[in-house]
Amino acid sequence: MRFALVNDERREASPGLMGYCPGCSQQMVLKCGSQRVWHWAHHGARNCDTWWEPETPWHRRWKNQFPLKWQEIIRHDEKGEKHIADVITENGLVVEFQHSHLPAPEKAAREAFYGNLLWIVNGTRLKRDRHRFLKRENLFRLPYTNHVFITRSPELSLPSVWVKCTKPVVFDFEGFAVANEIPGAMQEKLWCLLPGRIDGYATVVGISRAWFVDVAQTRQAVIPVQAITRMVTSELRRQRVSAELSARRWDYTMRPRSGLFRNPRRRRY
Ligand SMILES: [Zn+2]
Repeated sequence: MRFALVNDERREASPGLMGYCPGCSQQMVLKCGSQRVWHWAHHGARNCDTWWEPETPWHRRWKNQFPLKWQEIIRHDEKGEKHIADVITENGLVVEFQHSHLPAPEKAAREAFYGNLLWIVNGTRLKRDRHRFLKRENLFRLPYTNHVFITRSPELSLPSVWVKCTKPVVFDFEGFAVANEIPGAMQEKLWCLLPGRIDGYATVVGISRAWFVDVAQTRQAVIPVQAITRMVTSELRRQRVSAELSARRWDYTMRPRSGLFRNPRRRRY
């Protein structure tokens, strides 16, 4: 963890300190080496929060986008269950940064526990995930936008374990470390899969990293899911109507005029 209580104050790991876990009050171990980001750990393999995953530099860079007082916040529910959220904004939005694989039941449990939750998934962990997404197969751009895409098969472009979430999932395929090394349109972009489907279509929205970080600090819901849903719904309706119209036009122009070319029904004996 980034913080432990030192004389009842949240302090970052630093040599010489003695700290206690804000969740279970156990004395923590300092980890100030050169391999991993400096952090506090519980003794042995135990951890008071079973949902906690070891922090990577990717986690830290993301957390650093938010004020310290929003990071690693303990949240209780009415049954006394408690977990440490990576970030909770002033507006109550919980942001969870997920680097490693997360089994579906645990995903669902966290979504239910936190309510107003947004996932940020490390898309740089598996190289093939990024390659697959870059191909953009089966992602269709909505007309008049350059950042809203729909697809019937999101699992063809995005990691399939994440496509059934009930909360927005933001995929970070660049990471902060590599962002400046990759030229092109993908640079600095994050890709958000919205929860739910519209007429069987999933919606994927491209957002700039700077915009996201800025807006996450001020808005209760970062991604305007309802507005985008309305936009996609009306576009799908427009496409349906125009397909029906052209089918009718085809029907009218191709139909033989009455009597002249009509094939007499073959008699059946
Ligand atoms: Zn603890």
